[in-house]
Amino acid sequence: MRDISERKDAEKAIYQLAFHDSLTSLPNRRSFMNKLLNEVMHRKSPVSKLSVLFIDIDNFKQINDQWGHDVGDLTLQETAKRIRSIIRPKDVAARFGGDEFVVMIRDVQDEKEVIEIVENILGQIQKPINKFGHAFSIACSIGVAHYPDHGDSPEDLVKNADTALYYVKERGKNDFMIFNKQLEHQSLERRILESALRQAIKEEQFYLEYQPKMDMSTNEIIGMEALVRWEHPDLGIIPPLKFIPLAEETGLIIPLGEWILKESCFQAFAWQNNDFPPLRLSVNISVRQLEDPNFIDKVKSIVRETGIDAKNLEFEITESVLANVNSIAPILKEIQKIGISISVDDFGTGYSSLSYIKDLPIDTLKIDQSFIKDIHENRESKEIAKAIINLANSIGLNVIAEGVELKEHVDELKKNGSIHGQGYYYSRPLKVSAFEEFLKTAHEALLSVN
Ligand code: C2E
Ligand code: CA
Ligand code: CA
Repeated sequence: MRDISERKDAEKAIYQLAFHDSLTSLPNRRSFMNKLLNEVMHRKSPVSKLSVLFIDIDNFKQINDQWGHDVGDLTLQETAKRIRSIIRPKDVAARFGGDEFVVMIRDVQDEKEVIEIVENILGQIQKPINKFGHAFSIACSIGVAHYPDHGDSPEDLVKNADTALYYVKERGKNDFMIFNKQLEHQSLERRILESALRQAIKEEQFYLEYQPKMDMSTNEIIGMEALVRWEHPDLGIIPPLKFIPLAEETGLIIPLGEWILKESCFQAFAWQNNDFPPLRLSVNISVRQLEDPNFIDKVKSIVRETGIDAKNLEFEITESVLANVNSIAPILKEIQKIGISISVDDFGTGYSSLSYIKDLPIDTLKIDQSFIKDIHENRESKEIAKAIINLANSIGLNVIAEGVELKEHVDELKKNGSIHGQGYYYSRPLKVSAFEEFLKTAHEALLSVN
């Protein structure tokens, strides 16, 4: 008898270990997948459906880093408790690992029923947690997949719920999304693109084009913006708007950005030593690069290695980055100390308050092309461009308009005084040899005038 009961205890202990998460005492991944398989295999009636929810706590890493692991653990326990309090006894909640939870909703009659539960969870998780003398709040994101519409194996259901979750995170978190076929294609395309991008960095499938920046009143070239191009051996040229966001998300922008900076500085230095007048090189720098703790050191060593004069170098940083004034100011000041100028790209589209401008070492505002496109026929665009130019003038900043395509744009902009311009009206972005031609022609034209 004792033998049997001891064996039973041991079995129970093993079962507990193998199928439960000890922190939250929820079933673990293995257990959940078994239950889901069972459910899918032994469906009682063909009309009864089920749904899988993939739940992920938003910014959990930050909670852990900021408040410590005890609070992190507590958050997970509290989340588990709240999820369990909402779902019905016949449903199953499990912890998948880290801050990921999954739920199986059984016997679903219609989607409305599932959405109600999902919204309940979203709301419940957001209620403040009071512990250790602190009150703090969290939020979560949820991806949903229905059986059998979105997969008939446990693996597919969980994978597709996770894909839907991924898009919630991408769109700003604290929300839910139900899987659809379109997401699947997108996510496949993404995975293919991501691996191609890794390959491309290894094989240096990138090159740079340079677009002239002009003084609009004298028509003299004053500098150029380096713009990266990806030439894939099979797919051809892939536009930056397709791969830069992905490179940013995956962190691949860090090695890629370093290559762009080094390559363009070498090129600019070569031109400078080739009897061309000194031009200012503008390079786009993304947030992820600025956040890289080694960024400043890398910039310094690239400046040293390439020989470029830092005062002929400018970084274009999008306006939205500057919203985070406190964390960004010290980095911009380091950049300024090296002698590099800073231009606010896409100005007018990002952060709504302009108060940060005076606190940051900024040299130039670059008016976003959306305001230039219709400046000749849209009163609002006209007003906005004018306001930006006035603002820049009043605090002593340079200003440049981007996307100048038409003579009408030039005429309209010139009414506001002397500014710089860049766009197809003057030139498209050019490969190295075409850019040299452009410089020569511009140089000769100038000589013949003088
Ligand atoms: P951006 O920094 O705002 O660059 C300006 C974009 O406008 C470029 O597109 C340029 O080719 C295009 N453009 C220039 N003149 C005109 C014009 O007159 N009309 C119109 N419609 N467009 C004009 P591109 O090269 O496709 O680059 C798109 C974006 O990709 C850039 O926007 C930038 O955000 C990003 N990007 C490009 N190169 C780099 C890079 O080297 N590093 C980083 N981090 N981002 C880059
Ligand atoms: Ca730019
Ligand atoms: Ca821009």
